[in-house]
Amino acid sequence: MKKYKTPILLLVLFEVIAVSLWLSTGNLFFLLNFSYIGICLSVGGILMTAGWKYAREFVQFTVGSYMLVFLGLICRENMQIEGFWYYLLSGVVGAGVLHYAIAKIFGPLLFGRGWCGFACWTAMILDLLPYRKPTNPRKSFGWIRYVMFGLSLALVVLLMCLGKANKTTMFYLFVAGNVVYYVVGIILAVVLKDNRAFCKYICPITVFLKPMSYYSLLRIKCDEKRCIQCGKCLEVCPMEVEVNNNSRKRKNATECILCQNCKKACPVGALK
Ligand code: SF4
Ligand code: SF4
Ligand code: SF4
Repeated sequence: MKKYKTPILLLVLFEVIAVSLWLSTGNLFFLLNFSYIGICLSVGGILMTAGWKYAREFVQFTVGSYMLVFLGLICRENMQIEGFWYYLLSGVVGAGVLHYAIAKIFGPLLFGRGWCGFACWTAMILDLLPYRKPTNPRKSFGWIRYVMFGLSLALVVLLMCLGKANKTTMFYLFVAGNVVYYVVGIILAVVLKDNRAFCKYICPITVFLKPMSYYSLLRIKCDEKRCIQCGKCLEVCPMEVEVNNNSRKRKNATECILCQNCKKACPVGALK
């Protein structure tokens, strides 16, 4: 049972969140929503521990498509950053704000950028492209994320000032935003030959994710005494993390999406 500790802890954590929110708000949605996500994550964690090759993709699709299709398109909740700004500035602590607080702002203190590796519906599609291992040197385009972050906030403030910010507008913004993200993400991946180029340079959510994940409790650690410096972990990392260095300040440290590729590639089991 010891090796299944992390998936079991994840299930317990999500059940605590689900039950607490259900009891404090009286809204059954929170119980069902967080229970579903917790079950998907823990089943994926168990499958991964058992060695199933597509365990991460299983979680990506069960959680990512639930959020995109059910919460976004059917329930018409804007789960993107514009939705977060809209609800936050309106003073409504609904699903959008809670989603950001748990998955992208405070949760990363515990599970880093696990959201990016296991649940994001944008990456769910981008990861299907053939450029899993970046071959070109990393570009210095990271500043674009701050521009996108500022623009998303400015857009929502503008809509609110014009009196046009309402649930219908936010729904259409959600649909349009996703189309733009997919198109830009796919073009960038093809041009830069890197599936995760959008994540590295454009995604505004990383403005929250990166600083919080710096302090993450859950992170890949390297037993440097065991490491033979073969470099296989570096070759398979989609985010170019210097994972065989154990320092918190290792190169691209806040880029790790916990995909586990490096652990699978290590011939001596130095990564935990
Ligand atoms: S960086 Fe953005 S687009 Fe990429 S996986 Fe994370 S949240 Fe999704
Ligand atoms: S390969 Fe390892 S270091 Fe790179 S993102 Fe995945 S888990 Fe993190
Ligand atoms: S794959 Fe393992 S042994 Fe090779 S450099 Fe990475 S951590 Fe060290």
